[in-house]
Amino acid sequence: MDCIFCKIINNEVPSDKIYEDEQVLVFGDTNPQAPVHFLIIPKKHIKNIREVSKDDLQIISHIFDVIQNISDKLNLDDGLRIVNNCGENGGQTVNHLHFHVLAGRALGWPPG
Ligand code: 5GP
Ligand code: ZN
Repeated sequence: MDCIFCKIINNEVPSDKIYEDEQVLVFGDTNPQAPVHFLIIPKKHIKNIREVSKDDLQIISHIFDVIQNISDKLNLDDGLRIVNNCGENGGQTVNHLHFHVLAGRALGWPPG
């Protein structure tokens, strides 16, 4: 499968890894939109949040647990934003489920 994030998981493409365990990988976004901008992905290839099966829901709660732990380690006490873009209109450009975590500046709302 020609998936850039699967290639990152398999170390076929280098990345700035922040955290890794059996289920997830966290790495810096190559085009950061804030002083802190990392991505968290399941190691299992899941296309997007709408394609998560009931059996895989545990991965989603694990992802949020990992985000909480990393936020603590990075002292993101002033706040952060978790973003999931889903599908074409949602602005998803990589079809491997991922959550953006943005922090380090005041973020505008609403998104464009
Ligand atoms: P999306 O637009 O699908 O929500 O987010 C995809 C994100 O992946 C973008 O923010 C983009 O900068 C990032 N990205 C795309 N290709 C790569 C890559 O090869 N390495 C890393 N670290 N990030 C990537
Ligand atoms: Zn993939």
